[in-house]
Amino acid sequence: MTLPFFPEDLFDADRDVLLDIVERVGCAPEQKFILGERTAEFEAAIRDSVGAADAIACGSGTSALTLVLRAMDVGVGDEVIVPAFGCAPLASAPALLGATPVFADVDPRTMVVDTAAVARLITPRTKVIMPAHMFSVMADMPALRRIATSAGVRLLEDSAVAQGGSLAGTPAGMWGDAGVYSFVQVKTFGMPGEGGMVVTGDLDLGATVRMLRNHGQDGENRFLYHQVGYNSRFDEIMAAFQLHRLPTFPERLARRARIGEYYTGRFGDLAGCGVEPPPATRDGRCYYVYSLLVERREELRDHLATRGIGSHVYYRDALPRQPAFTSYVRPDGAWPGADLAARRSLAIPIYPQLTDQQVEHIADAVCEFAKEL
Ligand SMILES: *Cc1c(COP(=O)(O)O)cnc(C)c1O
Repeated sequence: MTLPFFPEDLFDADRDVLLDIVERVGCAPEQKFILGERTAEFEAAIRDSVGAADAIACGSGTSALTLVLRAMDVGVGDEVIVPAFGCAPLASAPALLGATPVFADVDPRTMVVDTAAVARLITPRTKVIMPAHMFSVMADMPALRRIATSAGVRLLEDSAVAQGGSLAGTPAGMWGDAGVYSFVQVKTFGMPGEGGMVVTGDLDLGATVRMLRNHGQDGENRFLYHQVGYNSRFDEIMAAFQLHRLPTFPERLARRARIGEYYTGRFGDLAGCGVEPPPATRDGRCYYVYSLLVERREELRDHLATRGIGSHVYYRDALPRQPAFTSYVRPDGAWPGADLAARRSLAIPIYPQLTDQQVEHIADAVCEFAKEL
């Protein structure tokens, strides 16, 4: 592939900075490798970047979701409403706490959770609604906020792919009682390691997450444990690296948005040819991944591959179709939107390192395919 789906030079530009940080942290007399000053500084920077009351760095996005659910007191007998299309932790985080993930169908066009489906699935056992932003589209958070408030349940906003996005002036992550970001390398603010962050306006919830991430240990009294906790701590080297990269994050996001908008402009008239771009709207967008809906997906994939362009199928199966989660599925469950998304979605490269010429080449190849039909 001349244009791989995942860039091969993710962190090359910051190589010297990273090596220098490794040396500084590694050789520092205090020998503090986790949850030190740099992590605290990184938490404060993220907290302030979105106007949260607290931000808690965790070992991964997945464990951030788990800690928030635990802090929301989710356990056996509880239901957590999650999208039927998305990544595994949406279902496994509640399941591993003994709760039941309840799958709500998604909108077949935007692939984010269908709010009417969420509203229909509320029961007296529902404890949390956990929507996720998907690919380049944020979930309908105003509607989900209303549904959660009127049902008296909590809202956990999986913003693993949407850090830096905003909807109606509110940053992704700040619509929920808590929001979660992921820094796994492929995410928009990814890093060469594992990590995640919880942001919240609820100081009590934040304090509980902070305690749970370090074995349920008291913040002041070492070796005093208030709850059965987890090890979900954050690495000092990664904290320093992310602090270095935070000021240029908006530029990289803006570059992604420009590429996404260019694609959408080029693909606007392809819907009649079996290739549908995401919506052309500007608010509530995040441009983590640019996913087309394609009737003859495997053919487009081959067409792109012969032109040296990598593509990626995110989620070949809806979550309730996965062997891991079938035991949580209700006999009358149906997710036509999720099944359609699983059959049609195809992601094309959108990373900021792409040159204008490469982006044009990718767009040309997609248009050529659609117009041949
Ligand atoms: C990446 C992702 C996660 C998990 O984050 P990790 O840091 O990989 O554990 C959770 N939810 C969504 C929607 C994601 O895209």
